[in-house]
Amino acid sequence: MRLILLGAPGSGKGTQAALLAEELAIPAISTGEMLRQAVAAGTPLGERIEKVMSSGDLVDDAILGEVVKTRLAREDAKGGFILDGYPRTLAQADQLAEILVGMEAEQDGVLYLQVPEPELVKRILGRQRADDKEDVIRQRLLVYRRQTQPLVDYYEQRGLLMPIDGDRPVDEVAAALLEALGRMVEA
Ligand code: AMP
Repeated sequence: MRLILLGAPGSGKGTQAALLAEELAIPAISTGEMLRQAVAAGTPLGERIEKVMSSGDLVDDAILGEVVKTRLAREDAKGGFILDGYPRTLAQADQLAEILVGMEAEQDGVLYLQVPEPELVKRILGRQRADDKEDVIRQRLLVYRRQTQPLVDYYEQRGLLMPIDGDRPVDEVAAALLEALGRMVEA
């Protein structure tokens, strides 16, 4: 299965991607994690990326295109994958569609985790990451609303969107995701 996990920062994408990956035996691919690794490597590109990430803004679409294309070409992604944190802009959604055409593959569905904003802020404040300070969180949520939220309509129009209530305990959300996938496979 080739899946996308869509949702705001703090919606539980990372946690649920990991659980689903184990359940379905396919890799969870987190672009945030890959970018953090690039930053840790300390290359000049990593330094540029670090500036953008620590301000709560989005890294350049072209960089993401390269990162994702290279990652999806790896052997372990041949049997499917779960994308966590990508696409995040309409340009990236088009980019992904193109990458998949190049791989002669199709996306099966988009799992959309819905969580109210006050709960998002509470959850993110509970984490201890460099880009999780309160002003940066506000910026990340603003960027999400402006640049990523339009993907909800984009995928809805393409008949791929599966909305899930993400405002409940981890195991309940995980069960709801599997249920939605079960319905998708039957349809
Ligand atoms: P995440 O771990 O998914 O919350 O991502 C952390 C940060 O990495 C984001 O706030 C962005 O700065 C950057 N990032 C991750 N994925 C993307 C993406 N698809 N497009 C642009 N920037 C991204």
